[in-house]
Amino acid sequence: MNFARIRHLSSQINRKTVSIVGSGPSGFYTAYHLLKKSPIPLNVTIWEKLPIPFGLSRYGVAPDHPEVKNCEETFTTCAEEFSLPTNKKHKFSFVGGVTIGKEILLKTLLDEQDAVVLSYGCTGDRKLNIPGEQGTKGVFSSREFVNWYNGHPDFAQDERFTDFNWGKVSKVGIIGNGNVALDITRVLISSQIDEIWKATDISPLALKLVRKAPVKDVRLIARRDFVHSRFTNKELRELWELEKFGIRGSIGSKFFQKEMFDPSKYDRAFNRRVEMCSEYLKPFDERSKKNYKKTPPPSTGYEKFWELDYLKTPLEINRDGAGAIKSLTLCNNQIHEDNSLQPLKNSSNILIYDMDLLITSLGYAGIPLPEFSNLSIGFDRDHVANKQGRVLTTDGEVFPHLYASGWIRKGSQGVIASTMQDAFEVGDRIMQDLTVSGALSSEKSIDLSNIRHSTWEDWERINKKEVLRGRKEHKPRSKFLTLEELWSNIEDV
Ligand SMILES: Cc1cc2nc3c(=O)[nH]c(=O)nc-3n(C[C@H](O)[C@H](O)[C@H](O)COP(=O)(O)OP(=O)(O)OC[C@H]3O[C@@H](n4cnc5c(N)ncnc54)[C@H](O)[C@@H]3O)c2cc1C
Repeated sequence: MNFARIRHLSSQINRKTVSIVGSGPSGFYTAYHLLKKSPIPLNVTIWEKLPIPFGLSRYGVAPDHPEVKNCEETFTTCAEEFSLPTNKKHKFSFVGGVTIGKEILLKTLLDEQDAVVLSYGCTGDRKLNIPGEQGTKGVFSSREFVNWYNGHPDFAQDERFTDFNWGKVSKVGIIGNGNVALDITRVLISSQIDEIWKATDISPLALKLVRKAPVKDVRLIARRDFVHSRFTNKELRELWELEKFGIRGSIGSKFFQKEMFDPSKYDRAFNRRVEMCSEYLKPFDERSKKNYKKTPPPSTGYEKFWELDYLKTPLEINRDGAGAIKSLTLCNNQIHEDNSLQPLKNSSNILIYDMDLLITSLGYAGIPLPEFSNLSIGFDRDHVANKQGRVLTTDGEVFPHLYASGWIRKGSQGVIASTMQDAFEVGDRIMQDLTVSGALSSEKSIDLSNIRHSTWEDWERINKKEVLRGRKEHKPRSKFLTLEELWSNIEDV
């Protein structure tokens, strides 16, 4: 778009209002892009259901990957810059502790704002839909488990975790092999290693319980074959490198041998993955590349094991008399030439894996907001129906001034960098549309006088306190783990 042409018009146009639902990376990057680039003066408000910001950067990204959370610095600088009263052109506000669809209706935002952006992420779980998935002790979704160890206030003290007998967890099954499954494997299999976890902001309650678990084997189970693995090389390498702590990885020779993969048929990243696995599968001293023999395993040998398992479909979760998981029934799968997958359910292909804990890591599921059906907002399986970020009605028409960015736009896929790209694209569309639309609201603000909410300043205070608490324990922060703690620290001024 021709920003230069629009810029000289901006002084003649009223300030426009944009409300963004969700303060995760997509919401914040959308705000950042609008505030940095919009030639039209804007009033941007981010609405967040928790009293604190940052979504999965705070409650998803693994605690031992603090560098990934650097995006929070960009969001903070942006929020500070545009919250200042000296910033005459644009204004930014954060409203925390307010769920859109509950305390404030989406319809209210649509009626009162010039643009509304849905950036509320994927708040549900994809399911296996097999018997035993619900109500069996020791069966958790990756979202529940990750939220728990990251200290999310809805999960940090959840009795399903705190009352579970971690002391008997030796064998673990994880369904799925994306990076989230690898994060969970790392947490479970290395929780007792201080070098990895002591200086992180992992929930101390979760760490204390997970450490009680004498985890010996973690098996990552996938429906398809090695070629269709979902993890990336960096995360896989991190798992292999745990060998220096006596943690050994394996892949059955049925599923992986170097010779199975003709390098001319695959891209560089995949060929690198094949090399990585074939080298790490060799005994340490027999590896040919220096890159794969940095630190030898301890002289005492290996004590814990993880395994990539392929071509299986879970069929049933089996319980013991106390209602806890005892085993998982699966069958072998076959992939046909046309890439279709066939579960082989005849008795010779049925297997039973004993296990004490099962995590289903099938991806987070997008959930429509309660008002979608009344407002005729379209929803495609697990994301908001949209065309290039412009939300569509149930009839496939563009819904006026409603947009979507991030995971709720495309489903739960993509890292923070691709979420940023997506948010920037949606931000560009909003700016295009705002330049041609008439002003709807001309700086009307939404009445919050009777609604408990937090502001950016409140978050800054919480942040300071968490960092201070953390410093005493040589951690980047020590999170408040309940809503009560968060609110009492916000309201205790
Ligand atoms: C376990 C895990 C680990 C990951 N690790 C990495 C990594 O190492 N590196 C990397 O680059 N990427 C990683 N990612 C991906 C990254 O987290 C996502 O790309 C990114 O967070 C998606 O951003 P989002 O804003 O769309 O969603 P989210 O981050 O989920 O943000 C959505 C926000 O909306 C809020 N919200 C929900 N409903 C409402 C409502 N009704 N009203 C108001 N607010 C609402 C939520 O509380 C949340 O704050 C990881 C993801 C997961 C799940």
